[in-house]
Amino acid sequence: MSIDSNTEAFAPVSPATGATGPHDVLIVGAGFAGLAAAKAAASGGLRTLVVDSKPRIGARPHTSGILVEEAFQALRPPDHLVRRVGKVRLTGPDRNIREFEQTNYGFYTTDVTGLLQWMAREAQGAGAEIRVNAPFARGVDNGDLIEALIGPQLVRARFLFGADGAKSPVARNFKLGLNEKFLLGIEREYSDPGRLDPDYLHVFLDNRIAPGYIGWAAAHPRGAQVGLAVNAPHRPRIEALKSEAEALFRLKPADEYERRSGLIPCGGLVHPWAKGRVLLLGDAAGMVSPLTAGGIRTALDFGRLAGEALVAHLRHNGPAPALALRKALPRFGVLRHGLRWLADLPPPNWLLQMAVSSAPAVTAARRIFFSRRPR
Ligand SMILES: Cc1cc2nc3c(=O)[nH]c(=O)nc-3n(C[C@H](O)[C@H](O)[C@H](O)COP(=O)(O)OP(=O)(O)OC[C@H]3O[C@@H](n4cnc5c(N)ncnc54)[C@H](O)[C@@H]3O)c2cc1C
Repeated sequence: MSIDSNTEAFAPVSPATGATGPHDVLIVGAGFAGLAAAKAAASGGLRTLVVDSKPRIGARPHTSGILVEEAFQALRPPDHLVRRVGKVRLTGPDRNIREFEQTNYGFYTTDVTGLLQWMAREAQGAGAEIRVNAPFARGVDNGDLIEALIGPQLVRARFLFGADGAKSPVARNFKLGLNEKFLLGIEREYSDPGRLDPDYLHVFLDNRIAPGYIGWAAAHPRGAQVGLAVNAPHRPRIEALKSEAEALFRLKPADEYERRSGLIPCGGLVHPWAKGRVLLLGDAAGMVSPLTAGGIRTALDFGRLAGEALVAHLRHNGPAPALALRKALPRFGVLRHGLRWLADLPPPNWLLQMAVSSAPAVTAARRIFFSRRPR
């Protein structure tokens, strides 16, 4: 049964059918966090409803979808949805190149839409109900139950997980913490990878094109991607990077098939991230590394843990999920926040050049981006 074409399974219910529920958990957002939570909750026997405002799971993704090794190991997606990248080629402002290779650690580029649809089918296979075209409009925690308006329909649930992204409407509605600090990411997708070597993740460090962060290019299962992120208020110079990448890797402008962009929270965990029967997961909770801007791994890990904690609570008299999850909250540490602060300045190109040319800085970069790390 296909997630994107099966309107019967995923259409919103008309208001004429009245209220639905109570579900054990209503999950708002069918992204990485929401679908990981849904699979865990439904596998533990909970009545699980996932709603997403998009017309199709994984439509117009706001992510490059590159998985770090730990995220790949946690998901183990089908081969056709991922491509392993074992080496990083770092290009500094003067266009000199440094290379890293790690045999036991890799990145994985993905067909993101296909990956999210596969995750949705997994959650559905475990028993979760998934509805698209189903936006969360508002909700109230009445003590015993959450009542939420999903499109025109009233949905009742014992718990609500807000996995609805960086600008979470759930967080706003329930007066939970909001993300306030962001990077802006922009990416172009090509259907043909040209001469882009699929073994490499190409990283560009140059504050003329990506002040405060990096640019990147890589082959993925459907072609290739070229993107960058910048910190506000700088403008992303995607056209400059695109021209450079098209010339370097013989990518054809006519092969561009998709444009992606989105906000990446980089201020760390929001406070509070949970209140009463409502918990935030993934980007909604600010669970993104302030330094690497990677959020998929934490979204997957914390989503699964939240689903499991709810099963333990509702089925086995375990502690309230927010309490049980406190120890599992991702901690990004003073070093990562400090380096984020430094990157925000942003450093001038001569300093970036010095960093790219200095052995200790390259070793540090290798450790941050290319080794197993705690959450
Ligand atoms: C351009 C860009 C590139 C990135 N690249 C990477 C990368 O390569 N690797 C990495 O690890 N991280 C990357 N990140 C970060 C990563 O994408 C996020 O951390 C991750 O997707 C978070 O997953 P999530 O499930 O919390 O939220 P999202 O993936 O944002 O999912 C939220 C879902 O909620 C839905 N939603 C929103 N509002 C409502 C509503 N009112 N009602 C119902 N549904 C709603 C949305 O439609 C969406 O499907 C990138 C981010 C950006 C912007």
